[in-house]
Amino acid sequence: MPDEASTPAATTPVRLLLVEDEEHLAAGLRLNLELDAFEVVVAGTGREAAEALLSPRGFAAIVLDVMLPDIDGFTLCERIRSAGNYTPVLMLTARNDPEDRVRGLEAGADDYISKPFELPELLARVRSLLRRRHWDRREEKSGGPRSVITIGDARVDFESHEVTVRGEAVKLTRLELDLLRYFVEHPGKVVSRQQLLEDVWKLHNYSTARTVDNFVSRLRRHFEPDPQNPTHILSVRGAGYKFVP
Ligand code: CA
Repeated sequence: MPDEASTPAATTPVRLLLVEDEEHLAAGLRLNLELDAFEVVVAGTGREAAEALLSPRGFAAIVLDVMLPDIDGFTLCERIRSAGNYTPVLMLTARNDPEDRVRGLEAGADDYISKPFELPELLARVRSLLRRRHWDRREEKSGGPRSVITIGDARVDFESHEVTVRGEAVKLTRLELDLLRYFVEHPGKVVSRQQLLEDVWKLHNYSTARTVDNFVSRLRRHFEPDPQNPTHILSVRGAGYKFVP
């Protein structure tokens, strides 16, 4: 129930789902997000989060802790994505461990922040996720870069996240779409794995290329008629990848 201190109903508040079982932390985050004019629903378990996500009103973003009592945040994120829900997810990882971050991003998270974090940074990350979402929409409205493209037999709508290959719907995670978009925006150019990690994953000083290769393989399975002999996302020996529209 809104109380007298609530923001006047001039605009509908942006609704966030905060999935965090540490009550003290959840209460502090909720208070600060509410002071920032967000409407916050707190879920203390994966199960509560799944129930909240059934709400027809939906959420503008999800702040998702990795360590939950009933399910880990990675698995929950994968389930959210495989259910076709592409709400931006900011993951709270327990430590500054690149493997954890990569795991979160592979599970379909959009960004991550390591605990302990400074509150202003968390707020900035949440706003950045929401801006990115709006940016996608504005691009469409302003007739900016085309958000629907075709690659061979595939049609990709970067705004609605709808992907069809030979007429069949295919689900891509946000990060898979980001990687694909990056390739589409750099046609014919050789891009290194390191560059992809920095520009798409926002990972700096992270040296393994395996993650990039895994994602490229996934994209090839969808977009290459013969994934073993790719014609769109080409490997360039010793250099990286090259996208050929
Ligand atoms: Ca926790």
